[in-house]
Amino acid sequence: MKVCKVPGCCEWATRTWATVPLCQAHRDAIEREHVKYYWGHITADNRVTYKLIWRYTPWYRLEERRRSRDLGR
Ligand SMILES: [Zn+2]
Repeated sequence: MKVCKVPGCCEWATRTWATVPLCQAHRDAIEREHVKYYWGHITADNRVTYKLIWRYTPWYRLEERRRSRDLGR
C-alpha cells in the first residue's frame, strides 16, 4: 500500500488520481477543484491541491519534455 503523495500527508492512499496515489480526503479535494476549474469558478492558480501533486502526474513529464524541446531550439 502506498502513502498519499500530497506533501506532509501521512494517510494511506486509497485511490489514485491521474496515476497519483492519494488518500480519500485529498482525492475528494482535488476532484472538487477539478470540477470548479472546469466550470470556470476558480482559476488554475486556485487549484492548490492539484499543484501539490502536479509533478507526479503524467502531464508533468509531458510538459517537461515540451519545455526542453523548446529550449533546444
Ligand atoms: Zn492525503
